[in-house]
Amino acid sequence: MFKEKVALVTGASRGIGRAIAMQLAAKGAKVIVNYAGNQAAADAVVKEINEQGGEAFAYQCNVNDFTAVKEMIDYIVKEYGAIDILVNNAGITKDNLLLKMSEQDFDSVMDVNLKGCFHTCKHVLRPMLKNRGGRIINITSVVGVTGNSGQANYSASKAGIIGFTKSVAKEVAAKGITVNAVAPGFIQTDMTDVLSESVKNDITNSLPMKRIGAPEDVANAVCFLASDDASYITGQVLEVNGGMNM
Ligand code: NAP
Repeated sequence: MFKEKVALVTGASRGIGRAIAMQLAAKGAKVIVNYAGNQAAADAVVKEINEQGGEAFAYQCNVNDFTAVKEMIDYIVKEYGAIDILVNNAGITKDNLLLKMSEQDFDSVMDVNLKGCFHTCKHVLRPMLKNRGGRIINITSVVGVTGNSGQANYSASKAGIIGFTKSVAKEVAAKGITVNAVAPGFIQTDMTDVLSESVKNDITNSLPMKRIGAPEDVANAVCFLASDDASYITGQVLEVNGGMNM
């Protein structure tokens, strides 16, 4: 499906990003596994992809660093000739009620989640325009649509991603580049592992499908939006949440 395509997945060393990288590679894409600090985990993803006959390499880069992101994208384009698929998945949480939320915790979440998305999209756009096409998929969240108590910073960053996605989609729609967002609900990863069993059980019971999502559920949606089947879809938010929000 993605033979000859080059895909950059940010935050691909663990969780949802890892599943996206694995699936894109299984479908033929050359995948750049970006990560922030966990080199062992990133190397393990690359090893698994290579063992399954795919092609991948790991690249450390904090997406909140404008210059480092430019260097990463320049490097990939130089090595592989293009970036056909960009998945902005890197994300963090620093949850607290607004009364207790520090300025630093607000800024760091915005810097990684929203500004990181700005950095990668800004730098990838010129090569994609030169290539006369591309797919950008930004990972937002159900709470970017609904809001969530204790996550004002995170929800704002994810709502920002939705506005950003639609604006950029309009700017490049006539140039063969689609820009969409995927909004996961509650997915089993390190990010949600910090919650107590009783909170997880409460969330599971409140879900119409009565199960927590798997990273692969999100990866399926991303692969669809990256595929030729989605060539007439842009500026959309695809919710993958077991019915959590409808
Ligand atoms: P995760 O398990 O915590 O993994 C986060 C990934 O992001 C790791 O690969 C991490 O790299 C990377 N990362 C963090 N900061 C980074 C930075 N500054 N630059 C580059 N990479 C960075 O998270 P997840 O649950 O898979 O979430 C992935 C995305 O889905 C996030 O955008 C999250 O907001 C979104 N999401 C998750 C859920 C959920 O229920 N899990 C729901 C809705 C949306 P290292 O390994 O090097 O630290």
